[in-house]
Amino acid sequence: MQRKKILNCGNTDPNKILPIQYSWAREYYKAGVANTWTPEEVPMQQDVELWKKSGGLSDDERRMILWNLGFFSTAESLTANNIVLAIYQHVTNPECRQYLLRQAFEEAIHTDTFIYCCDSLGLDPDEVYNMYMTVPSIKEKDDFVVDMTKSLFDPNFKTDSVENVQKLLHDLVGYYVIMEGIFFYAGFAMMLSLLRNNKMVGVGEQFQYILRDESVHLAFGSELINTIVSENPEVWTEEFRNKVTNNIKRAVDLEHAYAVDCLPRGILGLNADLIRNYLEYIADRRLERINLAKVYNTSNPFPWMSEIIDLRKEKNFFETRVTEYQTGGQLSWD
Ligand code: MN
Ligand code: FE
Repeated sequence: MQRKKILNCGNTDPNKILPIQYSWAREYYKAGVANTWTPEEVPMQQDVELWKKSGGLSDDERRMILWNLGFFSTAESLTANNIVLAIYQHVTNPECRQYLLRQAFEEAIHTDTFIYCCDSLGLDPDEVYNMYMTVPSIKEKDDFVVDMTKSLFDPNFKTDSVENVQKLLHDLVGYYVIMEGIFFYAGFAMMLSLLRNNKMVGVGEQFQYILRDESVHLAFGSELINTIVSENPEVWTEEFRNKVTNNIKRAVDLEHAYAVDCLPRGILGLNADLIRNYLEYIADRRLERINLAKVYNTSNPFPWMSEIIDLRKEKNFFETRVTEYQTGGQLSWD
């Protein structure tokens, strides 16, 4: 039995999943299945009352909520399209593809979450779903990801040279580390901070489930990147590592600009400076996760974010509902 390789493997029959070579892909698949949820399970009544009550939320709170719904509503579809149309084509290993199919399903659930939120709150879909074009701080994030993940969409792209494997890795960092690992996190911090303050608890709970899913996506993506690098060590040059690090630094700057736009004045003990610190802290974790040197050395201003990923703990703390969604072992990663 010849060993499979993750890229360009003539021994890989994409239909033959056993025997499994990359057991981490299988484990992330099972972790995803154990985390299954749907948005309709989360009641929205309190949110609807608070959203519609005059003076129930401040103008700044409403802006922050709307900006996050605007970013996430289209970002989830963008991510789903990237997985199905770009990554799936170039990652032929069957156990990785099994995970990618599961991830695509989760992105469909996330897309559904924002349909459900818009419907429940009675938001104008044209306004929310156009924000990725009309709000510059959101548009800049999306443009950055679309621009840095172009190689894989070229129909003639093949991972047949050092340069092209670097392009694949560059784009995977864009999809997983930057989009799912940095561009979602100012929004997570804002919406979960609202939840901690007992406001918009339905939307907050949905963000909590999304965060739990995204932390597995990020873990899978990092493992995929690391495996490609370990099987193709010649691609991991100093020049390439610097390029990846600089992209991650640029992403932190764009996400910070987004936070300033969402939170021009600061609310609920939250402001754009603290979010910047949090982004620097998580960017260092992401860099280390793909074996790059950290750059910021900032301490975590929101230790509660790590705890909130452990949903069971959070549920017991707030005693909002008794439903136990977790059906198996869970991965936690801030
Ligand atoms: Mn998602
Ligand atoms: Fe995701």
